[in-house]
Amino acid sequence: MKTFNVPIIYRSPLISAIKQQRKQQDKMKKDFTPTRLEFGPLTILLARHFGFCYGVENAIEIAFRTVEENEGKRIFLLSEMIHNPQVNSDLLSRGVRFLMDTSGKQLIPWESLQPEDIVIIPAFGTTLEIEARLESLGIAPLKYNTTCPFVERVWNKAEQIGGKDYTVIVHGKPKHEETRATFSHSRSHTPTIVVKDMEQTHRLAAYIREEAPAEGFYEEFKGQYSEGFDVTKHLGRVGVVNQTTMLASETQAIADYVRQAIQEHYQLPDDRIAERFADTRDTLCYATNDNQTAVTGMLNVEADLAIVVGGYNSSNTSHLVELCEEKLPTYFISSEEKLISPKELLHYDFHNHEELRSSGYLPQKENITLLLTSGASCPDAIVEAVIRKLAGFFGLEHLVDETAAAWA
Ligand code: SF4
Repeated sequence: MKTFNVPIIYRSPLISAIKQQRKQQDKMKKDFTPTRLEFGPLTILLARHFGFCYGVENAIEIAFRTVEENEGKRIFLLSEMIHNPQVNSDLLSRGVRFLMDTSGKQLIPWESLQPEDIVIIPAFGTTLEIEARLESLGIAPLKYNTTCPFVERVWNKAEQIGGKDYTVIVHGKPKHEETRATFSHSRSHTPTIVVKDMEQTHRLAAYIREEAPAEGFYEEFKGQYSEGFDVTKHLGRVGVVNQTTMLASETQAIADYVRQAIQEHYQLPDDRIAERFADTRDTLCYATNDNQTAVTGMLNVEADLAIVVGGYNSSNTSHLVELCEEKLPTYFISSEEKLISPKELLHYDFHNHEELRSSGYLPQKENITLLLTSGASCPDAIVEAVIRKLAGFFGLEHLVDETAAAWA
């Protein structure tokens, strides 16, 4: 896979050495057991896959190169480039400004843009409406485009099945930048609807099976379907794609549920299911899959707690947290600064959208085993800083350098 020129501040010699060696030993990516790092009484089990993915490295390389090559020009990002506070604040400190916040609220008016301004499209991609808006302002919308190719693959799939008269069901968070972009691209080809979870899928299936009165659909799915969507016509032939960072297992379960509803309602044998249900399995992003499978692999090992590192508004990180929470006390932190002491930490409760201060997160026992992973937009340097801080709580920070040397 292509390698990118990512600023050295985001790299970690320790993590790079570990990833390199694990890759050499397991070229086919079949081994999802974690890497064991020993710091006296503390054992850290590091997930087999975590951190920057292809799309994030690609976006960072383009954005930083654009800043370097365009001194004196005004540079804007449509919104946060990726959901990581450090990367975004590094770009802001280099003079880049955000046109919108992550929910799409305008921070800088469109009218203030000039044709010579540079506007970078983030890794999530953007809507066709925003592309048209930039064009109308004399700005080439795709000149500085960091949209991840794996997101574009979802758009292509939506276009392809839309061209065969399938309605597209997008499994995603309706307000997330990527889902808004995918919805926009998909609806330009075919009727499209967003479902955010299994609960909404059950409701949608009630309309597929014609069990729920059609009129209720428009209120129930308000803001989530394309203009002109006709619930009596557009749910009889469908395909499911996803926001690439959703839980892969949830997307699969949603696709299976919809498939079953269609199959039962139209009484289709297996060999005729394609008449009404499109196969879209090849749209899952490799990084989401690898990172989530690595968490499952890590959770097979006995441990006391899990720490997940990433931006609090990062969708893929919150799904890693969700997986860990099923088994262990789990703490979602954005950086090592949140580890106040061996007794206290600040961590994010993404269910209630609040940062909490908790004590007693490290158990009072002789030997502690801690699982550690990070989201696809989290620099490895932050994960190393977390490891250093934790080892430092035991007076063993020097062992981090020895560990890095051993892996190099
Ligand atoms: S998580 Fe996947 S789709 Fe999203 S930016 Fe990374 S590689 Fe691209």
